[in-house]
Amino acid sequence: MNKKLFVISGSSGVGKGTVLRGFLERNPEFMLSISCTTRAPRPNETDGVNYFFITKEEFQDCVEKDKFLEWAEFAGNCYGTKKKYINQCLEEGKDIILEIETKGAMQVKKQMPEAVLIFICPPSYETLENRLRGRHTEDEATIKRRLEEVKKELKAAESFDYRIVNDDLDTAIKTLEDVIKEEMKKC
Ligand code: 5GP
Repeated sequence: MNKKLFVISGSSGVGKGTVLRGFLERNPEFMLSISCTTRAPRPNETDGVNYFFITKEEFQDCVEKDKFLEWAEFAGNCYGTKKKYINQCLEEGKDIILEIETKGAMQVKKQMPEAVLIFICPPSYETLENRLRGRHTEDEATIKRRLEEVKKELKAAESFDYRIVNDDLDTAIKTLEDVIKEEMKKC
């Protein structure tokens, strides 16, 4: 079975979640992977839907037992994608999208070179800083930490297969659709 795995990354506040949701609404046959995280759920988040929320000990145990396809620490929390989960989805014939940060994306590419890496870029660093502050979901220290990650991520984006600028939402969704459709033709 020739199923595709797409990895979408983008700095916090770049709106990659919104672009991805827009894409998934129009293309519901794609499956969004659910990650494990040690981060506490936000008020609107549900376990098993947005993430599998696990303890640091559980996460560490998975790392030691090599259960993650990729994992990374991001702004003080750990995030990872289970190998078993991905393999099951691929066996079920699903095309999967992972929404993860760049260190994890690079690990996926190493283990599965056929994976397609797409980076959603902000029009500028300043736009991104404003968007991140405008969300009002994190305190100042968390925002500062996330902005540090942003700089590193923009550098890592240079080695992605595709970069899509999220200036206008509809255009970004359309471009993502075009990229994915083009890649699906190669299957
Ligand atoms: P948030 O805490 O805002 O939900 O996510 C923080 C960052 O972690 C985002 O950049 C998100 O894409 C990334 N992330 C979510 N799940 C995973 C994962 O399984 N692995 C990695 N490496 N990053 C993830």
